[in-house]
Amino acid sequence: TKHFPVRRRLRDLFSNRHDAVHAVDDVNLTLRRGQVVALVGESGSGKSTVARLLAQLYPRTGGDIRLHGESTKVKAGTAFRRYCARVQMIFQDPFASLNPVHTIRYHLTRSLKVHGNAGSTDAELEQALHALLEKVALTPPERYLDKFPHELSGGQRQRVAIARALGAEPEALLADEPVSMLDVSIRLGILNLLRDLKERLNLAILYITHDIASARYFADQTMVMYAGRMVEGGDSETVTQSPAHPYTRLLIESAPDPDRLTGVADAASPKDNGEPPSLIRPPSGCRFHPRCPSAMPRCSTDLPVPLQIGDAPGHWAACWLYDTEEVAK
Ligand code: SF4
Ligand code: MG
Repeated sequence: TKHFPVRRRLRDLFSNRHDAVHAVDDVNLTLRRGQVVALVGESGSGKSTVARLLAQLYPRTGGDIRLHGESTKVKAGTAFRRYCARVQMIFQDPFASLNPVHTIRYHLTRSLKVHGNAGSTDAELEQALHALLEKVALTPPERYLDKFPHELSGGQRQRVAIARALGAEPEALLADEPVSMLDVSIRLGILNLLRDLKERLNLAILYITHDIASARYFADQTMVMYAGRMVEGGDSETVTQSPAHPYTRLLIESAPDPDRLTGVADAASPKDNGEPPSLIRPPSGCRFHPRCPSAMPRCSTDLPVPLQIGDAPGHWAACWLYDTEEVAK
């Protein structure tokens, strides 16, 4: 762990919050290279917990995380170390994730060296530093290398954080609300950069957001989380155009403008009066039942299982409305 000071600090910071860790259940997620998967939900839905579990920042109490089929259950093992290098996290707040006393050169050099990508000569290191800044469109690189984080804008800082992640030559990026703390006018630029990097570097990206409209714009697959469980998933076009789960519908109705392609909305909370439930003692049965306009008697007692929706391949929802056997009775 001595190579991952940020990782360790976060693990310490979150290790007291076992409530959140226990609360995420039955989450099943596959990231593929060249694809963006969006994980959408309100704050408190457990989506950041999922990202931190995937980044191995939280200890997990069950389940497994695999890279190319290889389990990372053994913490000290080679597979675990390889995973930590290959899967990099981008945080919401680029102000907090860059150390203010160090230059951009320091941050990027450290990432390259830790992951063995710094080359063997000063010239090779310099070339690698330039290449990283060029990848995130901070050019010419020499204009940025010796600056301190506070001398850059929020968007530029987030680009540096992305460049630092790329220093590991990752296969996957976990981006937890990567634009929600940035000015609305530059959010799209960062999302477009991530999409461009996904294509050029064949990255898998997990995009965590409260904004379902941006998921439609940016992600190939969309998964919706409510109260620590996944409630719907499928390709982004289908999930956002023909949502099946009542919660997904509520999220889309509450989006300021579901069709807009510019910027990313701030609105995080659906406009009904309900509150997301506690993750420590979630409601019985379907966790959404206290807020659901379509709730039936069984919803408060039976936990819905994921059911295939219509003909769209891979579109599913965990909702009793789609239990056709039940309807037939
Ligand atoms: Fe609503 Fe019942 Fe479906 Fe849950 S299972 S979303 S309560 S209809
Ligand atoms: Mg969060």
